[in-house]
Amino acid sequence: MPGFELFGESERAHVNDVLNTGIIMRYGFDGPRKGIWKSKELEAAISNKLGAQYTQVVSSGTAALVTALAAMGVGSGDEVIMPTFTFVASFEAVITVGAVPVLVDVDDTLTLDPAAVRAAITPKTKVIMPVHMCGSMSDMDALMQICKEHKLLLLEDACQSTGAKFKGKYLGTIGDAGTFSFDFVKTVTCGEGGAITTNSEEIWRKCDGFSDHGHDHLGVDRGADLHPFLGYNFRISELHAAVGLAQFNRLDEFLAIMKRNYDALKSALAEVPEISFRRIPDPSGDSHTHVSWFLPTREATANAVALLKAEGQIAGSIYWYDHNWHYIRNWAHLKTAASLNELHPDQKKAVIHHANKDFSASDAVIGRSVSTQISLLWSEEQAREKGEKMAQVIKKSLSGEVIKLKI
Ligand SMILES: *Cc1c(COP(=O)(O)O)cnc(C)c1O
Repeated sequence: MPGFELFGESERAHVNDVLNTGIIMRYGFDGPRKGIWKSKELEAAISNKLGAQYTQVVSSGTAALVTALAAMGVGSGDEVIMPTFTFVASFEAVITVGAVPVLVDVDDTLTLDPAAVRAAITPKTKVIMPVHMCGSMSDMDALMQICKEHKLLLLEDACQSTGAKFKGKYLGTIGDAGTFSFDFVKTVTCGEGGAITTNSEEIWRKCDGFSDHGHDHLGVDRGADLHPFLGYNFRISELHAAVGLAQFNRLDEFLAIMKRNYDALKSALAEVPEISFRRIPDPSGDSHTHVSWFLPTREATANAVALLKAEGQIAGSIYWYDHNWHYIRNWAHLKTAASLNELHPDQKKAVIHHANKDFSASDAVIGRSVSTQISLLWSEEQAREKGEKMAQVIKKSLSGEVIKLKI
């Protein structure tokens, strides 16, 4: 997945353009910046490539989520339906805007189970927020249909799936808005950065203002801008945008390498009869950042993971069930709504209620699931070898080689 594996000349050249003018802020300073507008260029590049009418680049994927939710009018009293398997930023953003994250089960796509979404809708539901985890996608047809029937907004968290598509459309451009992360471990990186895409001029205008203290950006200069609503500073710097622009322009190159290595690694793993793979609603649209695979039981999976670790083959593979950052099981802080600032009592009560429901259906999937990250640095041969070595160890673990290690 990580673009940081392939830094080079073009990243350096774009950064130098900015350093040569010394204007590292994205707005204003029109004269001294000598026509260098990296953030605006990155926004145009994202809109053009992904086929979105508008893009707002911000300081992180988390900032993108907060900004998008605010721009969609989400706040106090609203509920946002989201999956039990995501990154903590997804619920952080919902809580930040004063709303309540309603966690629901994932299915074998490792994303929102549409039936669980339907069951969770209440009069307070405002947004459905699928998270396109590990390079692949949610069933967008099913979710769009639910949104249409119930007049809900759809916000795609595509932070882990830049460049993936569903039925020919890039993820993040299908719902009312989409968010992307360019943090250091994402497909395209600029250190810290993020983006919101939308086809709604109104949502974009609100994102544009909200991420810059509410500036309307219509004044003759920054001092003359008006402030139609409150906002925050979620601006990206020109230095980050410069790296992001270089990396984003290499997206197709990264996607092609990942596909080649994914195919090689996956076909080696497929030699193990007990292994099955994540269901992908549109396999041709996968961005191939990870091969996500299952064993038949949670115990078999835990044993295989322990043996992979013991035999030095665990690097790049994550057993989500035990992971602290991506799955409900270890989100103690969400389950107690532990927050430094006091949440509104109603919000706190609702957060705790929804975070402590029965997620055994998610456990049944995530407890059997491992994702193996695809490196941009492998040759095809190295990807195959990696898969073959892993397959050997997994077979050994299935044949009864149980390691009593704490994993
Ligand atoms: C990385 C990530 C984010 C947050 O992005 P940052 O740029 O790290 O703030 C949000 N959602 C998901 C699913 C992510 O993986």
